[in-house]
Amino acid sequence: MGMIDWKRCPMSAREARAVAMPEAWRDVLRAEVPVYRHLGPEARARFEDRLRDFVLTKTFSADAGILVDERLRLLIGAGAALLSMNISGETFARLRYVHVYEGTIRDGRHGILGTASGADKVAISHQALCHAFQVPDDGHHVTLHELTHVLDAQWSGFDGVPRLPPGSTSTQRWKEVLERELARLREALANGASPGLPAYAATDTTELFAVATESFFERPVALRDAHPDLYALLVEYYLQDPARAA
Ligand SMILES: [Zn+2]
Repeated sequence: MGMIDWKRCPMSAREARAVAMPEAWRDVLRAEVPVYRHLGPEARARFEDRLRDFVLTKTFSADAGILVDERLRLLIGAGAALLSMNISGETFARLRYVHVYEGTIRDGRHGILGTASGADKVAISHQALCHAFQVPDDGHHVTLHELTHVLDAQWSGFDGVPRLPPGSTSTQRWKEVLERELARLREALANGASPGLPAYAATDTTELFAVATESFFERPVALRDAHPDLYALLVEYYLQDPARAA
């Protein structure tokens, strides 16, 4: 399989599945996505399938001056793949547009634009995107953060609750754990104690889910030690245990 003709994108999910992973993509991932280098063969195959489905079926755009090239698509796709590689079923099915913008401003529900169909559009800061994989252990990963909002919003709106796999924890229990952790965080911040998560997580359960997801993949051992219940919840959802691998 040679080069991808991006003019043919977005493809349907069926067309995307027929595309073999270009070797050039693997070169980019090996060079720029540390977590990809450590995946075993089976996990890597799942990761690559999810990445391919994402980058070929979404419409990418950017502010003037930002080149929407293959590398940019792959870096965002790698974030989507990392989150969804073990989750069965369609994870980002309702997301259609990915926009990369200049600057780092966060306000309101920063990353999610377009409410008509729930969460059909996500916006990601270019600077933060480039930083994300280059510094893989600082607890900040804007792509994971914004895409977690998509997982959250495309199911039952912005409430911090994604679609939970059958047989796993109940929505009720998920909410309870999140509410309890949120209260603990706010108390720690009020007392000047170390909250074990960036303070932005204390905004509400939606931000807690997104910020905790960043820490889950970037500082898993620290998150597990500081917030074991929250960590266990994310293990059940993402079906990954990055602290054990760390
Ligand atoms: Zn957020």
